[in-house]
Amino acid sequence: MEKRNCPICDGKKNQKLFHQSFSGFSDTNLLDSYDVVACNNCGFCYADNIPDQKKFDVYYRELSKYESNTVEVKEGYYDRLRFEAMVKYLKPFLPDTHMHIVEVGCATGFLLSMFKKEGYLNLTGIDPSPGCTSAAKRHYGINVLTNTISNIELPNGSIDMLILVGVLEHIKDLDESLEKLWKLLTPDGHIFIGVPDGSQYFNGQDAPFQEFSVEHINFFGPGSLDNLMKKNKFSKVDISQVPLNVNHNTVTPAILSVFRKELAADTNFVMDKESPKNIAAYVEMCHAKEKEINAIIEKIGGENESIIVWGTGAQTLRLLVNSKLRDVKISAFVDSNPKYQGKSLNGVNVISPESLKSKTDTILISTRPYQNEIESQIRNTLGLTNKVIKLY
Ligand SMILES: [Zn+2]
Repeated sequence: MEKRNCPICDGKKNQKLFHQSFSGFSDTNLLDSYDVVACNNCGFCYADNIPDQKKFDVYYRELSKYESNTVEVKEGYYDRLRFEAMVKYLKPFLPDTHMHIVEVGCATGFLLSMFKKEGYLNLTGIDPSPGCTSAAKRHYGINVLTNTISNIELPNGSIDMLILVGVLEHIKDLDESLEKLWKLLTPDGHIFIGVPDGSQYFNGQDAPFQEFSVEHINFFGPGSLDNLMKKNKFSKVDISQVPLNVNHNTVTPAILSVFRKELAADTNFVMDKESPKNIAAYVEMCHAKEKEINAIIEKIGGENESIIVWGTGAQTLRLLVNSKLRDVKISAFVDSNPKYQGKSLNGVNVISPESLKSKTDTILISTRPYQNEIESQIRNTLGLTNKVIKLY
């Protein structure tokens, strides 16, 4: 684990706001815990005491190795809504349909396909996953390079608009990545950045502490994002704060922003006062919510009773360490995502919903957004009569 100076101002002094910890899968474990800290000098909030960049690189490489060769293109309803909002937001900055638009971290190319529909002709995607690259080509006819930020195979000065949605919050070496991206832009090029809005987490709707996920290590507010960008020779054109619907009952506050390439850096940082204060408020709110969940978990499990836990997401990984769930006998985990089936969590197998049919243990549904859908699946689709416990 490494102590991290402030990734924006290089400050060494920070204030700890929260300690996050998780249980991990045996094969793809990136980190067990980190501290959420706020820089005393510029107010940037970030994860401290995390592994070095190499471990992150290996983690993301391994993740894409597990995915099947034929990645399916999914056009989810809420993805569509989110991306439509982004296209609408960006169109005024893209007056010419011949402009070269490049999305870094484009997955299977859904967002780029919407620009294609709007008549844009010069689109390129960048994604480290070969499965995504071929899916984007096959499904949308969009050219995607199987690259990471550090090895993007495009000429310097060739991009008019760079798009990064859900990227910067994952990156440890921010300056290095932004320097590389700066070079790729034309002299009057722009960059669009969409990240979760740390200064508004407390206005979101999600399971407690979900914003401090396993993979997110930077918690930007508008002020911090502006500080980071001007240090890296970008000037602010617009910063908008918007709530984004992730699914039918999860809302993530986000920042949508556009910056312009400049010749000089500006290191006159303006203190981001809002983010540390509001992240502290979010932590307090989550503690209160988690208390209610823990009260339900306290009642689970007699001496020899074992239970089944449905859901192996971040919430479960957190409860396995931070609640009484760590002392409860668990006979199986269930996840409908085939990616997790066959893996083991704390030495217990993850099985498919169909494999539940022969089991009579009580089922704890450990997911916030889909708990009612899962309950209906247990009762109506699988026809099971097991006792069910819900946390929300
Ligand atoms: Zn700082």
